[in-house]
Amino acid sequence: MLGSGDESVSCIACGASVPREDAREYDKHGDRWDRDGKRFEYLCKPCFRGLAKQPRRGLEARLEAAGAGRVDDAEFVARFLDAASEEQPGRE
Ligand SMILES: [Zn+2]
Repeated sequence: MLGSGDESVSCIACGASVPREDAREYDKHGDRWDRDGKRFEYLCKPCFRGLAKQPRRGLEARLEAAGAGRVDDAEFVARFLDAASEEQPGRE
């Protein structure tokens, strides 16, 4: 289906398989240069928007509440998105 060279990645939040070029690289450590011993993870566009639209203010508290650094990344993102959606009733 896809042209040669395309690569699919899995969204760590919802598990959707999306073309890598359409995915958003996600690195909660914010350190793109230290690639040793870790792989980058990806978010599909809807999930990425769910994260990116959160206001900066209070973000640290939200990250902390979601278990940043204490749970694995997929669990962390799931919690984070869950908390975000709870604060916005009506948004599915
Ligand atoms: Zn997703």
